[in-house]
Amino acid sequence: MKIAVLAVQGAFVEHEKVLQELGAGTLQLRKSSDLDNDFDGLILPGGESTVQGKLLQELGMMNAIRDRIKNGLPIFGTCAGLILLAEKIAGEDAHHIGTLPVTVKRNAYGRQLGSFHYEQGTFQGIGTFPMEFIRAPYVESISDDVEILASVEGRIVGVQYKNQFAVAFHPELGGDHRIHKYFLERICAKN
Ligand code: GLN
Repeated sequence: MKIAVLAVQGAFVEHEKVLQELGAGTLQLRKSSDLDNDFDGLILPGGESTVQGKLLQELGMMNAIRDRIKNGLPIFGTCAGLILLAEKIAGEDAHHIGTLPVTVKRNAYGRQLGSFHYEQGTFQGIGTFPMEFIRAPYVESISDDVEILASVEGRIVGVQYKNQFAVAFHPELGGDHRIHKYFLERICAKN
């Protein structure tokens, strides 16, 4: 199995390492012609969603990625990647890729709680999973058919909608690969 990782900004190297440790092939997406390669899924890493969205547009990858997702490409957004996927961003007029029917709130935990570690988070189908939040968003609301996979203190931090999977935290940090494994086995392998 080969998984592409959007590699224009942010924490993409860490995702590649996890994928390689799980035995998957990886491919960096840096320019639109990289989309011509064959791959079975795509990871949108954490970083800065505004910068990533701008680069996707400038590099001519935004529409192509949106179309691929609509056609069923398995996609996994983490943190900024969740923001890129969201159909609505609270308090902002525009969205980026906008294929995931949720509203996200950016930098949602306030300045004091900009970054924190949540040891006892529970992830549906996985169990307890240590969650690393870095200036993270959360999902403020969802459309009916979006499945909630994880919540922390009443806030939604993990969702799935068909081929789209997204979390507000950074599962690539901390050495626990079960969420990536979930993506490979439950979302990529199915398609
Ligand atoms: N605060 C960032 C944003 O709004 C997301 C942070 C992250 O990806 N760790 O894009």
